[in-house]
Amino acid sequence: MAENKSKILLFGGSGYIGRHMVRASIKLGHPTYVYSRPHSDHSQVLNELQSFGAIIVKGQLDDHVKLVSALREVDVVISALAYPQVLDQINIIEAIKVAGNIKRFLPSDFGCEEDRIISVLPPFQAFLDKKKRVRRAIEEANIPYTYVSANCFGAYFVNYLLRPYEQNQEITVYGTGEAKAVLNYEEDIGIYTIKVATDPKACNRVVIFRPRTNMISQLELIALWEKKTGRSFSKIHVPEQELVTLSNTLPDPLNIPVSIIHSVFVKGVTTDFEIGGDDIEASVVYRDQLKFTTIEELLDIFLHDPPPKPALAAFE
Ligand code: NAP
Repeated sequence: MAENKSKILLFGGSGYIGRHMVRASIKLGHPTYVYSRPHSDHSQVLNELQSFGAIIVKGQLDDHVKLVSALREVDVVISALAYPQVLDQINIIEAIKVAGNIKRFLPSDFGCEEDRIISVLPPFQAFLDKKKRVRRAIEEANIPYTYVSANCFGAYFVNYLLRPYEQNQEITVYGTGEAKAVLNYEEDIGIYTIKVATDPKACNRVVIFRPRTNMISQLELIALWEKKTGRSFSKIHVPEQELVTLSNTLPDPLNIPVSIIHSVFVKGVTTDFEIGGDDIEASVVYRDQLKFTTIEELLDIFLHDPPPKPALAAFE
């Protein structure tokens, strides 16, 4: 019943992960709005989302009046803006303060848990620090929030690590390949994000998507892919020190992806801390209602019904 459902406004709803959230929001029956730039380069995606039932609101991220009027129509706000626009979310926070009706704000996190991981390379730390600035501004403004740590986008990183669309004989392994990372399928990230955005339990809490079935090392992932495809790959190791050197020498922002690869796949920062205290782990809390696609199942999708090749611009 749409009238009992929270109205959700998404920023970045036409983006790589945002479109999954928009689809999930509509699927779960929420009146769903997408705030999009007047000259967005994602018009085809926006048309598709509109045909599913999304209401597209055109506006710039620095148009305070427009922001406030869009916010007054809804209850919940999710930002899936891209990294370069992270600090533009301060404009959204200012508008939420003025609108005064927003019951929950989810800023554009959706990666590593930035308040919990430590000792990452400086370019990645600077990236996380910007996201942390947004969190602190939300708390200072007393805006009810949920912070989502979705860990690695599964199809995106299966594609990056295994190159399943190529007839490759070799696979690159970062470091020893033994550290475990969490890979979650994008469709699930969409559904679980909408679930937590409207769940009173998740208010003012960090929610981490870390199902046990989705923690895997690069070597285990390659072995699983070999088993499923019947192929065998030679492994080309990139030593940790090479990644550290690249993170020091590449210009900004090219130094960011290499630093993320180092933290996630060499150091294992998505799996090396206990989830405790007030934090919620999504696969446990929603185990009776929802299920994450396992990595085995994700590889089966690549084998039998491959998703469109993800745009990997940031990691090329
Ligand atoms: P994206 O696709 O690059 O962009 C999201 C949207 O931002 C665009 O569709 C666009 O919407 C909007 N936007 C607003 N101003 C823009 C501008 N000046 N230039 C370009 N786009 C602009 O974002 P994403 O890659 O999905 O990233 C979303 C979040 O996920 C970020 O926090 C990012 O750090 C995180 N992330 C996580 C992983 C992971 O593995 N965990 C991987 C990648 C990204 P309109 O065109 O409709 O205005």
